[in-house]
Amino acid sequence: MKVRKGFVSNSSTTSFLCDYCGEERAGMEMCLEDACMYECVNGHTFCGSHVELDSSPEAQKLIINKMLVGQAAKYFELAKGDEKERYEKYANETLTDCHKMMSLKGEELEDWIANEGEDYVCSLQYEIPSDYCPCCKFKGIAADDMIAYLLAICKLDKKRTKKEMRKKLKDLGSYDDFKTWCKGRSS
Ligand SMILES: [Zn+2]
Ligand SMILES: [Zn+2]
Repeated sequence: MKVRKGFVSNSSTTSFLCDYCGEERAGMEMCLEDACMYECVNGHTFCGSHVELDSSPEAQKLIINKMLVGQAAKYFELAKGDEKERYEKYANETLTDCHKMMSLKGEELEDWIANEGEDYVCSLQYEIPSDYCPCCKFKGIAADDMIAYLLAICKLDKKRTKKEMRKKLKDLGSYDDFKTWCKGRSS
């Protein structure tokens, strides 16, 4: 996730960048939820409008299940030292809710999603399964993924590439010259 923090006089602004469309949403002390953005399990950040959630209750049930299991796993990871008891409790409560939700059908399920499910989907903006992430499906390519791919197919080493880039900047003179050089070589 790309989060930028800026400090303007006494206020602190946070901004989120969509990996899919490039839109930036900024605000004071903003969180992902305020920005109406989501993060997938692989760390891509994107606007809520790009999440293609199937609207049938049975489909939502499966999505919520994946999210809750992911959330419980995160709690178990955090359950260490002084925080062991607290996070284990959260994890177990999450799994209990998840089991309860999975046993529901029809109207009962719809009621659960309408009442409790909505809270979960809103608070679990960080656990969108990759099936619902436009970047994991490569509908839009996140810059980091493109860099990783280019380094892989060109068999380049990240550290060495950075070193070469610094040398190139020195040879060319300025950052503007560097940009012009890149533009002239890419199709
Ligand atoms: Zn977007
Ligand atoms: Zn993703």
